Amino acid sequence: MGRGPADGGLTVTGFSDHGRNGDESPPTALFAAGDISRRIESLAGDIARAMGPEFVLLCVLNGAFIFTADLARALAARGCRPRIEFASFKSYGSATESSGRVRLVGEFPGNLARQRVLLVDDILDTGRTLLTARMMVEDAGAETVATCVLLDKPARREAPVEADYVGFAIDDVFVVGYGIDYAEKFRYLPDLAHISG
Ligand code: 5GP
Ligand code: MG
Repeated sequence: MGRGPADGGLTVTGFSDHGRNGDESPPTALFAAGDISRRIESLAGDIARAMGPEFVLLCVLNGAFIFTADLARALAARGCRPRIEFASFKSYGSATESSGRVRLVGEFPGNLARQRVLLVDDILDTGRTLLTARMMVEDAGAETVATCVLLDKPARREAPVEADYVGFAIDDVFVVGYGIDYAEKFRYLPDLAHISG
């Protein structure tokens, strides 16, 4: 699980007071960039063995953009040549609670029929997003659909879905950094951090 200042003094790289509201606590470190990259190397090994060289890597925007970029390059180093596609789903506004509804924003990728698809999202929370996205990939005629998330919050699950590949399982905390935002802030942080009130 994550380490905080109390148990090792890991600080959040790249964070400064600049650009945040004065009444917010600064993010607290959860996983440092080095931890994330080591975990991705290991995940990429598992995925490359299971998926082989040719598949579609479908990135769920916006939060998974950095995870997907790093995962794709780790997969390429293992001989994978995925076609990379993107789909945007929204379930959060600027609050830290899900709206309960998931909607596709913009286009859904074409040409998924008879393809082997790896769906990549940042966080598996209630499960509504991953379940909705997986059903859309299945409806598009994919041959198989595997799912990969950087973070899993099992305690929050409401929809019947689990990911095939999980970076880190975490408690019910609100995460930012490494592509993941709070009201469009903090995506630039190289580390994963959490916001506490
Ligand atoms: P679910 O549909 O599983 O409830 O939520 C999945 C989506 O909610 C994730 O792709 C992510 O965009 C967002 N989400 C869930 N937990 C967090 C969190 O801790 N921080 C942020 N910024 N987004 C989250
Ligand atoms: Mg998301």
